[in-house]
Amino acid sequence: MDYDVLIIGAGMSGLAAGIRLAYFDKKVCILEKHHRVGGLNSFYSKDGYKLDVGLHAMTNYVSKDVKSTPLPKLLRQLRLRFEDLDLCQQHMSVIKFPEKKIRFTNNFEFFLSEVAENFPSQTDNFQKLLKTISEHDELSLDAKPLSARQAVSSIISDPLLVDMLFCPLMYYGNAQEHDMEFGQFVIMFKSIFCEGFARPQNGVRHILNLLVNKYRDCGGELRMRSGVQSIRVSDGKAESLLLNSGDVLTSDKVLSTVGHVETMNLLPNSDATVSKHEVGQLSFTESILMVDKQPSDLGLETTIIFFNDSDRFSYRKPDSLIDVSSGVICCPNNFFFREPLPDNMIRLTNLANFDRWNSLGEEEYKMQKEACLKAALEAAVKIVPDFRDSIIFTDMFTPKTIYKFTGHLNGAVYGSPQKIRDGRTHIKNLFICGTDQGFLGIVGAMLSGISIANLHLLRDK
Ligand SMILES: Cc1cc2nc3c(=O)[nH]c(=O)nc-3n(C[C@H](O)[C@H](O)[C@H](O)COP(=O)(O)OP(=O)(O)OC[C@H]3O[C@@H](n4cnc5c(N)ncnc54)[C@H](O)[C@@H]3O)c2cc1C
Repeated sequence: MDYDVLIIGAGMSGLAAGIRLAYFDKKVCILEKHHRVGGLNSFYSKDGYKLDVGLHAMTNYVSKDVKSTPLPKLLRQLRLRFEDLDLCQQHMSVIKFPEKKIRFTNNFEFFLSEVAENFPSQTDNFQKLLKTISEHDELSLDAKPLSARQAVSSIISDPLLVDMLFCPLMYYGNAQEHDMEFGQFVIMFKSIFCEGFARPQNGVRHILNLLVNKYRDCGGELRMRSGVQSIRVSDGKAESLLLNSGDVLTSDKVLSTVGHVETMNLLPNSDATVSKHEVGQLSFTESILMVDKQPSDLGLETTIIFFNDSDRFSYRKPDSLIDVSSGVICCPNNFFFREPLPDNMIRLTNLANFDRWNSLGEEEYKMQKEACLKAALEAAVKIVPDFRDSIIFTDMFTPKTIYKFTGHLNGAVYGSPQKIRDGRTHIKNLFICGTDQGFLGIVGAMLSGISIANLHLLRDK
C-alpha cells in the first residue's frame, strides 16, 4: 500500500497531525502498536473501574471568548468547537512548601494576589518576571537554549519563591533534571498559571474518541496492533515501513511520534548511529486510589497539590526507586462537573528511577510496588487529611509500565532534554513530532502534531 504520509503512533500528537493531513486530502495512515489509542495518556479498565492512565488535568484552559492562546488555536486547526471538548474547570490548586503555600485558580489575578500576599518583598520583581515572560518568543524554532533557573533567579531574589514557581512547571512538563529551558518555562508558566486547568466530564476517553472520530470522518486510516519494526531507507530517504506483522507500507513522508532516539532505533544501523541525542531520565510512579467518599468529604478540597517537604525543590531522577520528598496529589473529582463522577479518586505522582525498577525480579517488583505505594501515601497524608481508611482500590504504575506501554526509553514521560523544535531529522522525509519535538502535555502534544504537519507535510497545499 502506498500513502502520502505514514504516522508512527496514535498518541495525542499523531492523532492531531493525522486530522490535519486527512482534512487536506492527504492519503494518511496512523500505525499504532497497541490495541488502544492515547499513548502516554490512554485509559484502561480494572476491577470494574474505568481509569485514565495519566490525565490529571488539561492545561491551557481559557474561556470560549479568548482567541489567541494555544487552546483556541488548537480548536481552529482541528475544526473543533469549544463545546466539543466538554471541559469543566478546576476548583483550586496549590503549591505547598513547609513554610508557604501559593494557591491558584483559572483566574490569574487571584494567583497574582497570592504571590503578593506571601512574598510582599517580591511584588516588583514578580512584575518584572511577567514582563520578561510576555516579551519572550517561546515558540521560536531556532531559539538558543537558555537556563530558566538563571533567568528567573536573576529577577526573583527569594529562592523559595523561585523553587515554588518551578515545582508545578517541572512536574507537568520538563524533561531536564535540575533546570529547565527558559522557552519551556514560559510555555508551562502560561499554560498553568496564566491559562489554567480543566477536565472533560468523561476524562481522557472523551478527548480520544473525539480525535479518532474526527480523523476517520476526514478519511484517515488508523491501524491498531500495527507496531513498526523498522524504517527502510534508500538514498537518504525513508522509503517504507516494515510492520511487526511483516507487512510493508510505502509513503512519500513519515512522521514519527515515538521519540527521537526511539525513531533512530528503527533505522538501519548505519543511519541510527547518527543520533547523539540524550535519552531522557525523568520518570514517575503514578498511584491511583479509589476512596469510598468524595475527596471533599475527606477534607481534600483542592484539585491539584504540588508539594515539597523542604524549602529547596530538587527535580531529578532519584537514586532510590521513588522519591516521596515532593510530588503531586490530584483529586480528579474536584472540577466543576455537570454531575458528580461515578467514582471517587485520588492520584499521587512521584519522581522515580527507571533503572532501579527495571532491575527487579517479578516478585520483588510486586513487593516494591506495594512498599512504594505505602511510602507515597505516608508522604501524601502529611500534606492532606489522612484518607487511608477510606481506600477501597489501589493501582500503581511505574517507569517500567510507562516503557512497556509507550516504548519511551527509561519510561521518560517528557522524552529527551534535547528537543527538535523544527521536527527535522537527518533523513529528509522523516520528521519528528510530539514529546521530542518539545511541546509537552495533552494540548502541547496536539499542537506539536499540528505544527509539524503544517510546516513539513502540507507545504505543497
Ligand atoms: C502518568 C502521566 C500523567 C500525565 N498527566 C498529564 C496531564 O494531566 N495533563 C497533560 O496535559 N499531560 C499529561 N501527561 C503527558 C501527556 O500524556 C503527554 O505529554 C502526551 O500524551 C504525549 O503525546 P505524544 O503523542 O507526544 O506521545 P505518546 O503518547 O507517547 O504517543 C506515542 C505513541 O506511539 C506508539 N508507538 C511507540 N512505538 C511504536 C512503534 N514502533 N510502532 C507503532 N506505534 C508505536 C505508542 O504506543 C504511543 O501510542 C501525562 C503523562 C503521564 C505518563
